[in-house]
Amino acid sequence: MLLEVDGLCVNYGHIEAIRDISFGVEEGTITTLIGANGAGKTTTLKTISGLRKVRAGTIKFDGKDITNLPPFERVMMGLSQSPEGRGCFPGMTVLENLDMGAYVRKDRKTPAYRADLDRVFDLFPRLKEREKQAAGSMSGGEQQMLAIGRALMAKPRLVLLDEPSMGLAPKLIQQIFTIISEINSQGTTVLLVEQNAAQALKRSHHAHILETGEIVKSGTGAQLASDDSVKAAYLGGD
Ligand code: ATP
Repeated sequence: MLLEVDGLCVNYGHIEAIRDISFGVEEGTITTLIGANGAGKTTTLKTISGLRKVRAGTIKFDGKDITNLPPFERVMMGLSQSPEGRGCFPGMTVLENLDMGAYVRKDRKTPAYRADLDRVFDLFPRLKEREKQAAGSMSGGEQQMLAIGRALMAKPRLVLLDEPSMGLAPKLIQQIFTIISEINSQGTTVLLVEQNAAQALKRSHHAHILETGEIVKSGTGAQLASDDSVKAAYLGGD
């Protein structure tokens, strides 16, 4: 397992947002967390990337205990997050935002760095067209692409994507899921949080259903997509 989460509990004051969650992410896979609003999906990702403190439990990355490491050390180890919504630096250009994603890298301005930038531009040609535009003046969908591109510039082994399809037009949603599969097939392990359950399950090797801070069901994407209770609750009964 590239990531191992064991007995994780996270509180906001007295509110138990996450209760005793355990799951793993196998290297090379897409693993998805599905759940209703407030189920604890974002909290789980933020805790894995080090933005929230744990109350109990451990997080291991590549076999090392990272439970109490600061976020930048986790990024340096190969774990980066694309935040929910428009998590870009609005006053900076597209290129500057991508550069910020790579701030922990020692190989900036080398051919390897340039190749990764080209890879992001291949995935998102829109960003290439607008590399000098201020991020704050980009559309919601474009900022979403930029947030994902910025996370990829850290050259992660594991990328955490928080609702990458949120607020996108249907055609773009399809495109974003294709890009997630592409990122994965290029060798990056993906931990995905999505409201768009049908699309996400279709592309996931493994998935977990979160309800009020607990994992209530786990399986392959295909197993959960054909599970009656999952269908009724998250797939609009299809
Ligand atoms: P959504 O799909 O709506 O983004 P989520 O599954 O990502 O939901 P979280 O954002 O992780 O859910 O929230 C889990 C619980 O923790 C919710 O009850 C939420 O109200 C609470 N919570 C989240 N952030 C805070 C905070 N900063 N202070 C207090 N409570 C919080």
